[in-house]
Amino acid sequence: MGITTQTKKEKGFLVIIDIERCKGCGLCIAFCPKKELKFSDKNNKKGYPYPEFRGTDCIGCLRCGLICPETAITILRKSRKKEKGKGL
Ligand code: SF4
Ligand code: SF4
Repeated sequence: MGITTQTKKEKGFLVIIDIERCKGCGLCIAFCPKKELKFSDKNNKKGYPYPEFRGTDCIGCLRCGLICPETAITILRKSRKKEKGKGL
């Protein structure tokens, strides 16, 4: 038995916020069912407060990305595969 391959899939979602596009409307925060987004205590270069992603319970529902009028939010599925012991 020369080949042993183990594939581990990382679960969850990653929410990327383009903070310089954000206008601080708060819609993404209000519509997130898991309370995954909250306002930062900092402002972007235009002076608007922007949301931060907690990254613990996101269910990938896409609501934040769909509701954002500035299209500042991208949701990605984490699917990094780790392979161990591959080889002959
Ligand atoms: S994808 Fe859904 S659960 Fe995840 S941060 Fe956006 S609104 Fe919240
Ligand atoms: S919905 Fe968009 S513009 Fe409004 S606070 Fe969220 S990221 Fe900013």
